[in-house]
Amino acid sequence: MKTKIKKINKIPLAYPNSSLANKTGAWRTYRPQTDYQKCTGCALCSKICPDACIEMINRNDKNIPVTYYDYCKGCGLCAAECPVKAIIMKRDY
Ligand code: SF4
Ligand code: SF4
Repeated sequence: MKTKIKKINKIPLAYPNSSLANKTGAWRTYRPQTDYQKCTGCALCSKICPDACIEMINRNDKNIPVTYYDYCKGCGLCAAECPVKAIIMKRDY
């Protein structure tokens, strides 16, 4: 027997492959800030970010994380998991 799914919205809020079009950074109340003096370039923050908005880049022969704030929701996971506490969460206005 076929199940009928009732559409409640004509325009979906999100759909597959639409993440780049949905800039969710405005949801954030706390903003991660990285101390590049402490950062060892381990890339754990980049791997753990649920929004995949931390990219590792190479600058002056050192791997460093770059956060894309257009997409960061401020969940704080990166700060909690950084092994050297190089990321702190600051109130974002
Ligand atoms: S988890 Fe911490 S030490 Fe590792 S790359 Fe991210 S900021 Fe740097
Ligand atoms: S605060 Fe959350 S969403 Fe923002 S960069 Fe860190 S892990 Fe990603």
